[in-house]
Amino acid sequence: MDLHTQLPVVGMVGGGQLARMTHQAAIALGQSLRLLAASPADSAAVVAPAVRIGSHEDLEALRAFAKDCDVVTFDHEHVPNAHLETLAAEGAVVRPSAATLVYAQDKAAMRRRLGELGLPMPRWANVSTVADIERFGTPCVVKTATGGYDGKGVFMIDDAAQAAELVAAGVPLIAEERVRLRRELAVQVARSARGETAVYPVVETVQRDGICTEVIAPAPDLPSEVADAARAIAERVASALDVQGMLAVELFDTDDGPLINELAMRPHNSGHWTIEGARTSQFEQHLRAVLDYPLGETQPTAPITVMANVLGGEPGGSRLDERLQRLLAEDPGARVHLYGKDVRPGRKIGHVTVLGDDLAELRRRAGRAAAWLRDGNPEGLHK
Ligand code: ADP
Repeated sequence: MDLHTQLPVVGMVGGGQLARMTHQAAIALGQSLRLLAASPADSAAVVAPAVRIGSHEDLEALRAFAKDCDVVTFDHEHVPNAHLETLAAEGAVVRPSAATLVYAQDKAAMRRRLGELGLPMPRWANVSTVADIERFGTPCVVKTATGGYDGKGVFMIDDAAQAAELVAAGVPLIAEERVRLRRELAVQVARSARGETAVYPVVETVQRDGICTEVIAPAPDLPSEVADAARAIAERVASALDVQGMLAVELFDTDDGPLINELAMRPHNSGHWTIEGARTSQFEQHLRAVLDYPLGETQPTAPITVMANVLGGEPGGSRLDERLQRLLAEDPGARVHLYGKDVRPGRKIGHVTVLGDDLAELRRRAGRAAAWLRDGNPEGLHK
């Protein structure tokens, strides 16, 4: 309990944009999020007042951080699971718990558990040799079981021999059938410590080069039975794995219905649209869930919301400030979120959200805004 706010203290491990936006939501709830950030220059560390600098892999740093928090939660899944178990054994309240978080940290553990639950997913196997991959069958997708993000750690394999180098690295791998997907979907669901759940509309996520570039809420033309199935899968996963906080379930839309790709147990890029597009944002909902507060409404605030990620462009050209002002002038309805990060080509530095009822027009506006902020090319702004 914090003396000034008279509210329980939430600490988030990680200082990226997810922590930054969670901090923003925390303010409205009377909270002041504590952070364990790797660097004072991290996206959230530059805006939150109570920041401890330390590595999420350092047990001592985690201990010292947890000591001042009523609840510890995360903006990424990279804290070693054994450290989380130690913190909990020493009395810290860790949400989600180590036992739950493992399913977002380790794709082999996740696949095994989802299989036990009978949930729909691609055919898969643990593999450790080229022969294993040959036996599994190609073409397939080979993934590192841990440590991947934004498509890093995902390899499209047409011939098992292509995986020789990967296998030689000696990291745990899984193989998955290469799914014929129509498109990719995601569902956010919040689950509080007491077991209340709140599920959001199913969204479509558009990926380019392994990075999510656009999210459309709700997923256009999704038959209601597919949407219901996807939402039911997300709620089932949240309850069966005892998730505490936000859960994002990434799905493949296939001829055989939705198949689970992967899980994230924190606010997620596919839920940024909820800041303006839903009655309760995923960031506020994550806080409510880890605090074991009642959850907020998840209904959309507009018929359609489109979110586009702003990636860093090539160096040079106009200043970001100039680009921002120009965008705000050209499209006063665009909601811009910049993360205060150094610009590097391809790095997520912000996102733009637009709301309305004309899908084509919203996609055009969101795409144009993101391209303009990235490249500062005036032609892009008028397309
Ligand atoms: P990451 O953990 O890096 O986000 P994912 O497991 O989500 O990696 O895979 C990244 C992308 O690779 C997916 O968004 C999808 O486009 C593609 N992909 C992953 N697994 C499969 C699969 N089994 N079949 C077809 N495409 C896949």
